[in-house]
Amino acid sequence: MLHIGCHLSISKGFLHIGKEAQSIGADTFQFFTRNPQGGKAKDIDSADAQKYNDYARANGFAKIVAHAPYTLNPCSDNPQTREFALMVLADDLERMEYVPHNYYNFHPGSHVGQGADKGIAMIIETLNRILKPEHTTTVLLETMSGKGSEVGRSFEELAEIIADVKLKEKMGVCLDTCHVFAAGYDIVNNLDGVFTEFDKIIGLERLKAVHLNDSMMPFASNKDRHAKIGAGEIGQAALERFVRHPAVKDLPMILETPNDLAGYAAEIKLMRAAAE
Ligand code: FE
Ligand code: FE
Ligand code: ZN
Repeated sequence: MLHIGCHLSISKGFLHIGKEAQSIGADTFQFFTRNPQGGKAKDIDSADAQKYNDYARANGFAKIVAHAPYTLNPCSDNPQTREFALMVLADDLERMEYVPHNYYNFHPGSHVGQGADKGIAMIIETLNRILKPEHTTTVLLETMSGKGSEVGRSFEELAEIIADVKLKEKMGVCLDTCHVFAAGYDIVNNLDGVFTEFDKIIGLERLKAVHLNDSMMPFASNKDRHAKIGAGEIGQAALERFVRHPAVKDLPMILETPNDLAGYAAEIKLMRAAAE
């Protein structure tokens, strides 16, 4: 069975978000660990988290995906910005233990003109400082569209990061369909080829989750604008082929399309039908 859900607000707690996901036909979801701009996290209610864990087990939920604030930059040229990113990432990983054995996704960062190599080295250093053997969470690097000086625009860059992380068993990748398309990976006309390349460079065993989005912007544009399924340049047929591909079978797929709950419910239904 396809595991699919969407990005939802955690403001009313874990049990609430689990039930909300269930109500729209989802068996997974994504949430921001705190205000997407960064900022202080709300205290986690451990009783609520425990209730969610029981609910998820009873209802056969797949792993869920926490998303780090997207303004964090572990490879900024400003040491204070780097330190802030490290502090938030480390704190989030501690907090993830309230909902153990799930995924924590983050944007690798922007090297802001220092060069990808320097950026990659800083991201590795951050990961080597925050990952702890006792953590149960798998940390996912998101594939990026390559806008500005984003690191993670190619499978090679992600592979380079993972290669020098000491606790490699805690690392994975989240493939965003909009971002890889915008970065120049042709998932419309050469889906098999893209997965073959992913396997050769990163290894398909590292692919742990998917962000399922259409793209407002054209192929290889390096621009990041999500569209509803079928309303963008990737198109419904290509996304239907995508969810049927054996390389992503069993992975949690998260819609980050511009939708309200009813819109998400409809896309979940559409994608489930396509995967049958
Ligand atoms: Fe993201
Ligand atoms: Fe994404
Ligand atoms: Zn995006």
